Amino acid sequence: MKHAEGFHDREGILYADDLNLADLAWEYGTPLYVYSASRIRQKIGMLSDAFASALPPGRRPLIAFATKANTNKAVLNLMASSGLGADVVSGGEMLRAMAAGIPAEKIVFSGVGKTDEELRYAIDHDILQINVESAAELERIMAMKPTRPVRLGFRLNPDVDAGTHAKISTGHSESKFGMPAEEIADLYALAGSIPNLKPVGLSLHIGSQLTSLDPFAAAFENLARLGQKLKCETLDFGGGLGISYNNEKLVDLNVYAGLVRDILAPLNAALITEPGRFLVGDGGILLSRIIDVKTTTGDPILILDAGMNDLMRPALYDAVHRILPVSGRGNEYKMTFDIAGPVCESSDIFASAQSLPELKRGDLVALMDTGAYGASMASTYNSRPLPAEIMVDGSRHGLVRKRQTLQDIIRDETVPDWLNA
Ligand SMILES: *Cc1c(COP(=O)(O)O)cnc(C)c1O
Repeated sequence: MKHAEGFHDREGILYADDLNLADLAWEYGTPLYVYSASRIRQKIGMLSDAFASALPPGRRPLIAFATKANTNKAVLNLMASSGLGADVVSGGEMLRAMAAGIPAEKIVFSGVGKTDEELRYAIDHDILQINVESAAELERIMAMKPTRPVRLGFRLNPDVDAGTHAKISTGHSESKFGMPAEEIADLYALAGSIPNLKPVGLSLHIGSQLTSLDPFAAAFENLARLGQKLKCETLDFGGGLGISYNNEKLVDLNVYAGLVRDILAPLNAALITEPGRFLVGDGGILLSRIIDVKTTTGDPILILDAGMNDLMRPALYDAVHRILPVSGRGNEYKMTFDIAGPVCESSDIFASAQSLPELKRGDLVALMDTGAYGASMASTYNSRPLPAEIMVDGSRHGLVRKRQTLQDIIRDETVPDWLNA
């Protein structure tokens, strides 16, 4: 029998693939990130299939996973073994991608502030492409006088509104990301005149959690127009595909792939795409235990053992994650709770007036769809240890990041001798 993929109900209990989440919580403790390898593979398949139906072999995009969505070694390993590349935004992510087995020739380096050290690291490893963000960055690469060919993409700011949350929009003209077309045309020519610098293409990324095709179409048109003019060999059309957090209507993948076929493929350039959230977002949950139920004059508050340091999206982006009870899934939703973390910040709130069954201290809840920008954004604020992370695959499960200890938190700090002298 083919096993279940991802998170679902079974006999009144929430399961991850074929595993009971209540059992996993007992075994590994909480707060706990749980990733479903089978669900992530399924998402990779959905995207590859869409490109495969739109484009002939050899013309399909390299899928370069945007590692910042989830930098866990096991997740990156899964991407590597599925043949994916990586889009990295720091030297640390480049190291992680390569350590996970993603070959340098499938790695693109984006990011608005790459240090000289990071650029040298990318050049030394001969990665596929460095996506240049500014004239100033190109100047620094030129000053390095590389002794081997360096392939450069130039990040276009297509000046489109992605129609997503302001804090995850990157494609409008006032954003700090990318450059206008005219500037890129000049830099392209300049780079082409420098020994060993190879201006090969363009990149763009207009924002995250897009649920409409129009901004993609507008951005792709701009990319194609400039790509045609500069005779680009590569076109990197970014990430941004949304997932369903609360029943949002999503982009039809076949129509999306059709836009790539109709607008970008005619240029005959090698295509690159950089999805992050789409591949891992609904392949992960954050499992948390209720520390206390606090009664107030308003709705009672469930105080969880997971906080904004473990999952920052609600505090940072007003993101709303579904919160589900792990047991008693069939019970009547007759209560209304506010749901908060234990961190000493009023923004450490996951939900208000959430309808749920009766819940008590010690019960488990799952914060759904937290596989992207969850653990990768976690911090130790309030001196809270980073949570453990596990991966499941069918009936197999294993630790993919050990829970931090309190000693881990203070180990790297020192007090200079003179302070108490
Ligand atoms: C964050 C990022 C992505 C991935 O965005 P998603 O919305 O997670 O798909 C892709 N490209 C670049 C340059 C990014 O910064």
